[in-house]
Amino acid sequence: MSNCLFCRIVSGEIPSKMVYQDEQCMAFDDVNPQAPVHVLVIPRAHVESLQGFQTSETNLMGALLQGCREVAQLKGVSDSGYRVVANTGSSAGQTVFHMHFHVLGGRSFAWPPG
Ligand code: 5GP
Ligand code: ZN
Repeated sequence: MSNCLFCRIVSGEIPSKMVYQDEQCMAFDDVNPQAPVHVLVIPRAHVESLQGFQTSETNLMGALLQGCREVAQLKGVSDSGYRVVANTGSSAGQTVFHMHFHVLGGRSFAWPPG
């Protein structure tokens, strides 16, 4: 989708600080980090949100979670712990409607979230 911000990052039209990529996923630093480690893991193909996945797309969903694990390893927070978040829909705070997991780490997090 040419008007989608994250599709434009996938195509390289908008620059990003790449952390990890494979055939199905891309991961890059969030431009407005909320923690010392804040990386977005996205599918290369445009999917609006977690709700937009087909039930047959479990491989892609697994690949994205595997991507989150890779990011945690690469950023050195696998052992200390990290949080994976998928804001889904506007009430949950989703602002970019190309599905993404936030991988947050490098500090302690409160629960419940705000
Ligand atoms: P959401 O609010 O949809 O869960 O998360 C969207 C995230 O995308 C936010 O954390 C925001 O900082 C990040 N973001 C917005 N625009 C850009 C951009 O142009 N580049 C990068 N790297 N991150 C962005
Ligand atoms: Zn997109």
